[in-house]
Amino acid sequence: MDDDNMMLDSPMEFLSGLADAEGAEEGGYCLGQSILDAGDHYACHCSCGSWDVRTGTREEGLRLARLHTADS
Ligand SMILES: [Zn+2]
Repeated sequence: MDDDNMMLDSPMEFLSGLADAEGAEEGGYCLGQSILDAGDHYACHCSCGSWDVRTGTREEGLRLARLHTADS
């Protein structure tokens, strides 16, 4: 079914795109932090791979991101 294939294609492309981005940032350095709206919370992630938290607001995520990069 063409419809089913299209349904599967989008998430797979999304996942491979994420994998590429993470691979490019590999190395353990705090090159960038992302704060993604995950619906009921914000998923915060750093390129160093050791910072991964959930916050209730984007503002809190930005604050924690600054604290994280100030730490390292
Ligand atoms: Zn970091």
